Amino acid sequence: MNGLLTLKGLSPNIIQSIIDTAVSFKNDSSKVTSFPDKKMVTLFFENSTRTQYSFQVAMLNLGITPIGFSSIGSSIAKGESLYDTVKTFEYLGVDGVIIRHSQNEFYKELENVNIPIFNAGDGTADHPTQTLLDLMTIYERFGKFDGLKIALVGDIAHSRVAHGNAEVMKRLNMDVSIVGPEIFIDDTAPRITLDQAVDTCDIVNLLRVQFERHADVIEMSKDDYHSLYGMTKARADRMKKDAIIMHPAPVNRGVEIADSVVEHKKSRIFEQMRNGVYIRMAVISMVFEGKL
Ligand code: ASP
Repeated sequence: MNGLLTLKGLSPNIIQSIIDTAVSFKNDSSKVTSFPDKKMVTLFFENSTRTQYSFQVAMLNLGITPIGFSSIGSSIAKGESLYDTVKTFEYLGVDGVIIRHSQNEFYKELENVNIPIFNAGDGTADHPTQTLLDLMTIYERFGKFDGLKIALVGDIAHSRVAHGNAEVMKRLNMDVSIVGPEIFIDDTAPRITLDQAVDTCDIVNLLRVQFERHADVIEMSKDDYHSLYGMTKARADRMKKDAIIMHPAPVNRGVEIADSVVEHKKSRIFEQMRNGVYIRMAVISMVFEGKL
């Protein structure tokens, strides 16, 4: 099994080469290789708009035939395991699978699968293509990672994006800190205040409040969350001149970020989505070419 499961074992050089490949695809479509004989399936066991459809657009841009899969109507509804489902697609002649699953490190039970697997998000652990598209967006803005100051703001404890981003960003010598209410804080990085983040960071990476992952009801109203931890227009305007705001989306407008700030000049939220297509094209083609 190869593919892309996590960025943990990948060196900064390989990470940079994925970003460079994605940037070259974005700037010059003649750099894109085509794989017309390949077909891949997207197996999503959790909801998704951006990741699922940008993987599909990426496949279409690479000449790959995408196959959609819905667990409703499949044998998953009869109790079939993840392993048997993926193994079935291997024997149907599919060339790769893209999987999102609520179980952290779901891929550990897929070691006997012989086609590439791409992790499209595992539980609260990791979301490697999201981390790569975030890095691409940062690289396009600053042309480097070393020394950049980033704050991950919000529901750190339940966010695979926070966990995945922090692990790689620290290895790239970025100065990573976290901001959020006590209930959402873990040991991902040192904690700072929102004011410190707004005044000093190059990047404020907002995270969605993951209501669907909370066992208990959060004792804070959405309005209170917004005034204490949200990116208001006043806070966005106060950030350093070159600083940027990112959010992996979907966005809870009026909670993590004010409605009017989603498309603020410092916001890169929609550009992150565009970059996601090129990153997914880069990882798929590098895997099929044996470069990853
Ligand atoms: N779309 C991202 C994810 O799947 C972020 C989020 O859902 O908040 O983790």
